[in-house]
Amino acid sequence: MTNDFQQAALNEFQKSASQLAKGKDANAALTKSYERYDNLIAKTIEASSIKPACKAGCAFCCHYKVEVRAHEMLLIKDYLSKTFSAEKIAAVLAEAETNAAIIRTLTPEQHLTTNIKCPMLQDNQCSIYPVRPFRCRNFHSTDANACEQSHGDPSNMEIATGMIEDVAMFADAHTQGFEAAAEQTGKDARVYDFTTALLEVFADANVLKRYQRGKKTLQQAIEIST
Ligand code: SF4
Repeated sequence: MTNDFQQAALNEFQKSASQLAKGKDANAALTKSYERYDNLIAKTIEASSIKPACKAGCAFCCHYKVEVRAHEMLLIKDYLSKTFSAEKIAAVLAEAETNAAIIRTLTPEQHLTTNIKCPMLQDNQCSIYPVRPFRCRNFHSTDANACEQSHGDPSNMEIATGMIEDVAMFADAHTQGFEAAAEQTGKDARVYDFTTALLEVFADANVLKRYQRGKKTLQQAIEIST
């Protein structure tokens, strides 16, 4: 582990821990953490001689398995409730239901190698971009052709889409800093499958209460073992 990694993780841990201590849920602290993350990654990309190939409208990676923490899914629910119409939410949930029926038949390994369009992907763009989870933020590629090739051959794990070393390092450090601070609060730190978690946060009125009480927030969503 490099000094840069440790310093970035520690900085984020200290800032997030102090913000998380002020709220009953993580929404405000997570929003601030995402802002710091975006600034850190933008600066790192600016300083790098290699640039990501990612651009709006390119969304091969939004067909991969997505993992999420309870606090991330609660922020997404809040965002959807404030910015989407009831009809639009119903359409997203209907697509998520279709996806969940497939996902529940797959082993974790099969899920990793199966293309399933994320229900939040609309017109080839992320419809929850400001609150997309860390796992989505952290993904980047230096080779769009390799992304297309991987999308066409999802079980081929040999295809390397390329990463910028410093971007991957700071992304990981920042994420770990926030997650360590969230874990310190004693609230749910489990990792869940995105689609089944999305369905549960809208289906069960008690998810926020369970999160605030430090209980297992999601009881029907698929839990990912880490
Ligand atoms: S949440 Fe957004 S960025 Fe993540 S997979 Fe879905 S559409 Fe893509």
